[in-house]
Amino acid sequence: MRKAQETTLEIDLKALKHNFEHLKSKLDSNTKFLAVVKAFAYGSDACVIANYLQDLKVDYFAVAYVNEGIALRAAGITTPILVLHPQAVNFKTCVAHCLEPSLYSSKILKEFIGFASAEKLHQYPIHLKFNTGLNRLGFGVNDIHGIASQLKKSAVVKTKSIFSHLAASEDLNEKEFSLNQIQSFKTISEKFVKAVGYKPMLHMCNTSGILNYPEAHFDMVRSGIGLYGFGNSTVENKNLKPIASLKTVISQIHHIDKGESVGYNRAFKSELPVKTATLPIGHADGIGRQYGKGKGFVTINGQKAPILGNVCMDMIMVNITNINCEEGDEAIVFDAQHTSENLAETVNSISYELLSAISQRVKRIVLK
Ligand SMILES: *Cc1c(COP(=O)(O)O)cnc(C)c1O
Repeated sequence: MRKAQETTLEIDLKALKHNFEHLKSKLDSNTKFLAVVKAFAYGSDACVIANYLQDLKVDYFAVAYVNEGIALRAAGITTPILVLHPQAVNFKTCVAHCLEPSLYSSKILKEFIGFASAEKLHQYPIHLKFNTGLNRLGFGVNDIHGIASQLKKSAVVKTKSIFSHLAASEDLNEKEFSLNQIQSFKTISEKFVKAVGYKPMLHMCNTSGILNYPEAHFDMVRSGIGLYGFGNSTVENKNLKPIASLKTVISQIHHIDKGESVGYNRAFKSELPVKTATLPIGHADGIGRQYGKGKGFVTINGQKAPILGNVCMDMIMVNITNINCEEGDEAIVFDAQHTSENLAETVNSISYELLSAISQRVKRIVLK
């Protein structure tokens, strides 16, 4: 059995490179690649991932919030960074760190132009987001005239790109809906170019969009989950490699008699003698309480060990009754074989949620 010392998240940069190259192989050579590194690069390590991809000449990064972009600049990232969801209160730091805001409503566009005028900026790069059916953030087609007149009034900003986001790019049952979104985006782009008088970059596809809608790659694509090793389908997953492995260690083994209980609220009561292992990972590390009571599991010595009772803040107890193992042995929460997607499925969740929840206190180890 492999030994371990503490809970760690291993990040495999070779796998990242493989995924980047695989996704790029789906694009025309002049299509740009934006790497989405929001939420600590989906729970891995945004600075490490971004630096590595910067060396591989990725064209753009995206984060959700200004603070995430500031952290990347501090880590030496000089590649353009799009901030998907900036707030007006952060415009000053946004611009101070050369972060490019996505503006999605008349209100926030006006606020940014007001700010840019006060700061005497010249042609500061902005990105305009259009809603084509996700109904989350974005201008509508009817906003184009208003946008154009605002943009024409001043030279303080310049629209570097216009973009939209697919609502169900991974779901081929929704193909008609997605094709409709793509068509709406084309109409919007044409109207925009006419109204404003120049053509910014266009982009629409996330990872599943890249894989399922080659006709919608436009000038750039935005990939997150694919870089981290998931393609949202059994077929696509085979071509990608999960970059993150979450591993922990058996702190202690207990022999529980029939009738005893395990953990808080006595949520597991034993009907037979069982052997349990206590592991130093809990809901504060990103393994939510929903994984308790037999739903989630770890892998020890190649075998499934289900979580017994409630997940504690810092620990879980797992059933190792039929597993040959001892204190100090490694337990795998997920890795390239026992994937985060499979574990997330046990609680009707998705790899995105489980990965991005891995807390910052878990030690990251970068494999080069
Ligand atoms: C998070 C995000 C992405 C990345 O999506 P993946 O499915 O992880 O590739 C792309 N675009 C926008 C607007 C996003 O918010």
